[in-house]
Amino acid sequence: MRVAVLSDVHANLRALETVLAEVDREQPDALWCLGDIVGYGPKPTECRELVEARADVCLAGNHDLGALGVIDTGDFVADAEASARWTAGELTEADRQFLGSLPVQTELEQASLYHGSPRDPVWEYVLTADTALAALDAAPVSPVLVGHSHVALAILLHRGELTGGLAPIGTEIDLDAGSWLLNPGSVGQPRDGDPRAAWLLIDFEAARAVFRRVPYDIAATQREIIEAGLPEGLAARLETGT
Ligand code: ZN
Repeated sequence: MRVAVLSDVHANLRALETVLAEVDREQPDALWCLGDIVGYGPKPTECRELVEARADVCLAGNHDLGALGVIDTGDFVADAEASARWTAGELTEADRQFLGSLPVQTELEQASLYHGSPRDPVWEYVLTADTALAALDAAPVSPVLVGHSHVALAILLHRGELTGGLAPIGTEIDLDAGSWLLNPGSVGQPRDGDPRAAWLLIDFEAARAVFRRVPYDIAATQREIIEAGLPEGLAARLETGT
């Protein structure tokens, strides 16, 4: 079974369409999405439609729940809060129904999936050795797949020792080497210094996974962000991937 793993689309339709075109060329057996379909970006409904049509497994993230009004966005930073309010006003009934139906975690036979982490699938960022270790400890199945931080990561636990870290484009791992925590990175708002849209291709039979990046029309999404009246900082950060 080959699976494309996407996360943190954030209503960036240009990035999502570009990633899906690359996914289509690989013809995986399934597509999994780790949440945050909406929030920050200018095309929430279009992205929800595509994800709903394409994903075999899909989680909700904190931004999906924030836009639905299910969780308090008082803790969001200013730009995120403003975009959550804007997104809430844009969501259609079909958007609300789909996003409202999604779990925040799911444990499959092949992998454990969380938006944030097993301890706190909505809010916790796995970016340190401690949080990675706790996640690997708590999840029933490796690989542990998380999103939320928008940073592509491959962290390996083997005989009590933690190695790995940032997973730049082309990083390829051996799933049999131990227990893995993998973050595919973000489709629509990368924050690891590489502005290209991120995704992950896992081949369970071959026990391999490859971190992918694909350039997309950042300027077009930036124009759409400004036209929508969303905070300009959300457009600027796409260019630097921060
Ligand atoms: Zn996110």
